[in-house]
Amino acid sequence: MRDKRLEMLYRILIKEHSKNPSNKRTLTDATGEMEFFNPSCGDLVVVQFKLKNEIISDVCFEGQGCAISMASASMMTELMQGKTMSEAQKLIERFYELVQGNEEINTGSLKDAVYLQGVSKFPTRIRCATLSWHALEQGLEEQK
Ligand code: ZN
Repeated sequence: MRDKRLEMLYRILIKEHSKNPSNKRTLTDATGEMEFFNPSCGDLVVVQFKLKNEIISDVCFEGQGCAISMASASMMTELMQGKTMSEAQKLIERFYELVQGNEEINTGSLKDAVYLQGVSKFPTRIRCATLSWHALEQGLEEQK
């Protein structure tokens, strides 16, 4: 049962985002950047962003890791384009709730990231899914 669920989860993620991740590139004029490492899985992400008047005018990532961490970074960078810092913070918190299994939240606002809801059943994978989101959160925090 466990393996079957994980297999389904992976299939969606790999197909949609891991093979062709969005925004996997380097920003030459980034205003902020944050690197996060997940030792339990070996995932490494560097999130870069450009802030203009408190709006995220661009966000991208580099790094390597498991399918969940890479797909999640792809989904996160798609979602955060053009968001204000406070909107981004709300979405990050909502995403943490999602992957911890809270089913009461407004999932529509998270777009493709809702596919990661399944990781709530695999506690060791939650860190993979939230890695790039933590990186953005801390990077934005340093801008305040
Ligand atoms: Zn991982």
